[in-house]
Amino acid sequence: MNLADTEVVLSILTDAGYGQTTNLRAADVVFVNTCAVRENAEQRIFGRLGDFKRYKKENPGMLIGVLGCMAERLRKDLMESESHVDLVVGPDEYRRLPELIEGALTGERGIAVRLSRVENYDDILPLRTDGIKAWISVMRGCDKFCTFCVVPFTRGRERSRSLESIVREVEHLAAQGFKEVTLLGQNVNSYYDERHDFADLMAAAAHIDSTMRVRFTTSHPQDMSDKLIQTIAENENICNYIHLPVQSGSDRILELMNRSYGREHYRSLVRKIRASIPTVSLSTDFIAGFPTENDDDHRLTLDVIREVEFDGAFTFKYSPRENTKSWHMGDGVPEDVKLERLNQIIDLQREISLRKNQEMVGQVVEILVEGESTKSPNDLCGRTDTNKMVVFPKGDVQVGQYLNTRIERANSATLFGTALEASEQRENASRLAANA
Ligand code: SAH
Ligand code: SF4
Repeated sequence: MNLADTEVVLSILTDAGYGQTTNLRAADVVFVNTCAVRENAEQRIFGRLGDFKRYKKENPGMLIGVLGCMAERLRKDLMESESHVDLVVGPDEYRRLPELIEGALTGERGIAVRLSRVENYDDILPLRTDGIKAWISVMRGCDKFCTFCVVPFTRGRERSRSLESIVREVEHLAAQGFKEVTLLGQNVNSYYDERHDFADLMAAAAHIDSTMRVRFTTSHPQDMSDKLIQTIAENENICNYIHLPVQSGSDRILELMNRSYGREHYRSLVRKIRASIPTVSLSTDFIAGFPTENDDDHRLTLDVIREVEFDGAFTFKYSPRENTKSWHMGDGVPEDVKLERLNQIIDLQREISLRKNQEMVGQVVEILVEGESTKSPNDLCGRTDTNKMVVFPKGDVQVGQYLNTRIERANSATLFGTALEASEQRENASRLAANA
């Protein structure tokens, strides 16, 4: 989400005549786009702001700005505690950045944190740097008010862009040669533009170019409609991957979290998804150590992991956020217990991911080649439709190409394979052309 927002900011600033530099020392303006979901994300930002302070000493004219959710949450406090910060700008105020920079250049520290009910940056074409995969924000804000979550306070009320404007953006990306779009929202499947729901939007996006993959994140279990499941099943180029955060396996905790579903609803939803999309891969989020969570609640979470057999999970220690409802429930689970539960969740999920990945050894899977592997310059990497990363030796493969790979080995996070012969690649290419 922040990467997508940063592309909007880059577009606004480029239109105002600014250019990007990778040399921090030489920058006239430095912005950091922030997350406030957990305390440790904010701590990292304070660390970064400390680094920027040193650069500003060397280059006293440098302006420093904090963007995003932390700006929205801390507002004036951030200005007061960080005396070298010149601008504090929340997620709905980015259009004002050029004007705020102008003001700051004359010595006026600026703060803009008004939340909007309508701002969705619909008319701004994000300045993208990757030429293969693109994010598209299709809705902003969240109305769910999970009791632990700061997002409704930092990103405001839910609002959706029009289907037509999103379709135009996908068409533009397809014409530029992009091969994958991810439709983004905090609560993306509650998208509604007064005429179309999220299933309509996914179908419209998928029909633009059959060689372009369409993904989406993050969906809420409450808004996972039968129509959406059907739309994913029916469209070849909508990826068979769903990130569906469950948070906990205990009904008591889910109720305290205000997640609006119970364990049984979640399990039957997973059964329904798997019946319609047999090859689907599922990932989820967990919070360990929510207020009052006891050993029985934790065991129920481990049971859900065993039953559902997720392909992957993001697991977080509960982090109390000021002004949320759960802030008032205290933070009673001791740190060492939180950590132990977190590790048990991670270990169990790792075992399952490893087993599932090893079952793929010997199979031929199609990937979209994304670029060089971060771990080895001799390897490329790409993702399967089910969002699994495959690393393979470079050869003469092109980035942005669909490629069949044979999986040779796997760990819990990555598959390692080899690119198949050109003949099979051609077959793959002609299949894609036939789809088109
Ligand atoms: N809108 C998305 C994601 C929101 S934030 C959704 O509802 O799924 C991403 C994840 O951060 C959440 O799914 C949750 O697992 C975690 N999270 C949010 N607030 C948290 C908190 N206060 N402490 C720990 N984890 C939190
Ligand atoms: Fe936060 Fe819940 Fe909204 Fe997700 S659905 S952003 S967890 S309030």
